[in-house]
Amino acid sequence: MSTVDLRNNVAIVTGAGRGIGRAIAQRLAKSGASVVAVARTLSQITETCSLIKANGGTAIPIAADVTQEADVSRLVEQTIAAFGRVDVLVNNAGVAPLMRIEQTSTDDFDTVIATNVRAVFLCCRAVWAPMAKAGSGAIVNISSVGAFDPFPGFAAYGAAKAFVNTYTKALAAEGAERNIRVYAVAPGAVETTMLRGAFPDFPTDKVLAPDDVAALVEALLAPACQHSCGQTVIIQK
Ligand code: NAP
Repeated sequence: MSTVDLRNNVAIVTGAGRGIGRAIAQRLAKSGASVVAVARTLSQITETCSLIKANGGTAIPIAADVTQEADVSRLVEQTIAAFGRVDVLVNNAGVAPLMRIEQTSTDDFDTVIATNVRAVFLCCRAVWAPMAKAGSGAIVNISSVGAFDPFPGFAAYGAAKAFVNTYTKALAAEGAERNIRVYAVAPGAVETTMLRGAFPDFPTDKVLAPDDVAALVEALLAPACQHSCGQTVIIQK
């Protein structure tokens, strides 16, 4: 059931090709938003959009690498060309390779930071001007409980997500005068390709469904949550 009316809203969801991002894209579309589904793999975001359209929703795929400034600029330009505005950004794209420091190459480290940190900055900055011009907007950054409990193998990932939490709080303060609300959601284990890549044997009774996270993201977009912006909301079984 939809908890928020997002008709006339345009929502960009990064990492929408599978897992949590796909569930968020589907949820927001069900609430009435026109969704822009973003990832590098066009076939996966096209499938997300087909699922949304089969349910009566509106969605377009835009293939982009969110670590790349030119791709992110093009993403926002194409969104505005297609729908005329951008009201919601969900920074969900992420990578979480489980590797201890002695196994981590410089390239591995750079990829974790580029995807979980740099991309959040690039996407927030790219939507900031159109949201400020419109006088409203909402951004939800997907963090992780790894930011609070960075167990062995998740040092770079956990620290990257800690950046997301602090960045969210700081941007919420910057956005207040423009009516741009910024939130973070920090899930525990969620049943996705990412989780099973890192933890094939993680107990299934301790794992959230992607739609559990999507429902929280949707709820944060409700007007009732406007005074909670800047916070990181944990969701965990
Ligand atoms: P997933 O199943 O691996 O999906 C990740 C999505 O991000 C894919 O669509 C992927 O598509 C996209 N992506 C990755 N790098 C990208 C890039 N450079 N540019 C554009 N898109 C990119 O992951 P998930 O489990 O759904 O995780 C989603 C988010 O939740 C991540 O931020 C993750 O850190 C966070 N999270 C997950 C869990 C969990 O247990 N699953 C727990 C806490 C937090 P392409 O590869 O095609 O680009």
